[in-house]
Amino acid sequence: MSHLLDFTSRLKTFCVAENAVCPKCLQSTNMHVFENYDSAIVLAFPVGKFGTNYFALCPSCSSTFMLTDSEAEKIKSGDIEVFKNLEALKKEESNV
Ligand SMILES: [Zn+2]
Repeated sequence: MSHLLDFTSRLKTFCVAENAVCPKCLQSTNMHVFENYDSAIVLAFPVGKFGTNYFALCPSCSSTFMLTDSEAEKIKSGDIEVFKNLEALKKEESNV
């Protein structure tokens, strides 16, 4: 979990989506959405998409999801259905 703490300490909380369903573990949980303000954090995710500024984190299974700006705004405005369409990042995969 130390990696997770290091991860979250570099990000600013954008919003928390209460009772959102994680598409990975299917738990109803409070999904945390972070805004990336440190470009270094992108390097921790070799996903090949460097334009993404928002991430969602599932506190239940520690899965991380990339969000577009519009998805993040939707979640902030209460549209937690957005989570159904997200896929968890797989750090092993760099071919997007
Ligand atoms: Zn989860």
